[in-house]
Amino acid sequence: MPHSSNTKARRAHAIVIGGGIAGLLHAHVLSRHFDRVTLIERDQVPEGPTARAGAPQGHHIHVLLTHGYRALTRFFPEFDELLDRHGAPRFDWTRDTAWFLAGGWIKRGASGMVSRLASRPLFEWAIREAVGARGNVRMISGHAVTGLRADPGDNGRVRGVETRPHGAGPHDPETLDEATRTADLVVDASGRGSKVEDWLAALGYPCAPTIDVDAHLGYATRLFKIPEDHDADWTVLYITASPPGLPRAGALSPIEGGRWIVTLVGYNRDYPSTDEDEFLEFARSLAAPDIYETIKHAEPLGPVRGYRRTANRVRKFESMPRWPAGFVCSGDAVCALNPVYGQGMTNAARAAEVLDAFLSDKKRGRALDARACAAFQRRLAKSNQIAFMLATADDFRWPETEGTPPRGLKLVHRYMDRVFKGTHRDADVTRRLIAVVHFLLPPTSLLHPRVLRGGRRERG
Ligand SMILES: Cc1cc2nc3c(=O)[nH]c(=O)nc-3n(C[C@H](O)[C@H](O)[C@H](O)COP(=O)(O)OP(=O)(O)OC[C@H]3O[C@@H](n4cnc5c(N)ncnc54)[C@H](O)[C@@H]3O)c2cc1C
Repeated sequence: MPHSSNTKARRAHAIVIGGGIAGLLHAHVLSRHFDRVTLIERDQVPEGPTARAGAPQGHHIHVLLTHGYRALTRFFPEFDELLDRHGAPRFDWTRDTAWFLAGGWIKRGASGMVSRLASRPLFEWAIREAVGARGNVRMISGHAVTGLRADPGDNGRVRGVETRPHGAGPHDPETLDEATRTADLVVDASGRGSKVEDWLAALGYPCAPTIDVDAHLGYATRLFKIPEDHDADWTVLYITASPPGLPRAGALSPIEGGRWIVTLVGYNRDYPSTDEDEFLEFARSLAAPDIYETIKHAEPLGPVRGYRRTANRVRKFESMPRWPAGFVCSGDAVCALNPVYGQGMTNAARAAEVLDAFLSDKKRGRALDARACAAFQRRLAKSNQIAFMLATADDFRWPETEGTPPRGLKLVHRYMDRVFKGTHRDADVTRRLIAVVHFLLPPTSLLHPRVLRGGRRERG
């Protein structure tokens, strides 16, 4: 629903840079506050749910945490139906996941923390379909944004973007018209490889400080056909790494099309191989052999694919001394996380919720001036804090992780070890842990007497 008429002068057109999950979700939110929204994506976006060059992570497992799932079904009432059309399974995180953690299997039990299992291309396709159905969002593919346009007469307010057809040379003409490239608000959601520093530098802004934490984690993923006679009491298998000795982990999940997606990861530069036999050997070497046992005779569908760009990086825009009016940055372009904790899409949804609240805020969101846009970056930074803390706290368990650990982390690790052991005995501890990791409860809720006691032993 577009905005009310008294804000019309300032809320005519918004541009989103990047058509990944964050870009699409931000475009959806903006469509509720602006007359029209233009989303500009560099890739030629495929018609159906298939992987594309600009989102190479699409070949790897993508879990949707419960908060993310709830946000997406709230944003898009048709989300489930779109996934149903392709046969994406549903599951309960604490009942249907067999999770080997800290030397034992977690106690399972239903929790209502449910979500869907799908490939990332299907998640993205479903969101794109839903956003496309909003009458006032125009999606342009095959065009790269090459810079921001500012208005020198209005204190350098950002007024739009420069674009180029993807693959064209620097001197080739623009093909997007003036009205398409001019906006009241530009949102950069172009991912961890965003050129936002260069764009801001070209307008005279200093470089934002960054925080980098790199656990040197590598991925290898392969798809398998689910055998017709497959029968197990779990839907998803998850074998966690065991610090400090065993830096290897793996996950197996059903996705649409009767397939399993199997992702193996190694911290500390212990990268899983993309060689078929070595991939299987790596699976066999995990803390529990269950993934290996499940796939060793299954029919592979396609090659093993690798991926290694997994460092955590936060661009601290909230601490910039100056920030332009008419521009904000979000998604992985602000906070890219080690993907092994499965937070990215959910964090993008949380960022979209922050933008929605910000634009609904009569005082701050209306003007879109420099102070208001800087205030958005501060709100977003606050929202990103938990995800970054959860991801990096675990990364620092590995000796080769680069970055500066926060003080007191050893104590946190010792406490978390107690929580992990508690999950072996007590399904309530499992539920609490999952609720924290899925952004449903604050981390402090793990300081519960039952958790402190190491859980309650249960029968069975
Ligand atoms: C290996 C891996 C596994 C992951 N697993 C999970 C998981 O299990 N669960 C989860 O929730 N998240 C996971 N993630 C993270 C998740 O993919 C992202 O965090 C999330 O999708 C949000 O990303 P984004 O939209 O901000 O950026 P991206 O997905 O990087 O999208 C950015 C988009 O911008 C486009 N673009 C870039 N530059 C320009 C330009 N100049 N002009 C126009 N367009 C441009 C790109 O083509 C791309 O489409 C994983 C990531 C990786 C790398």
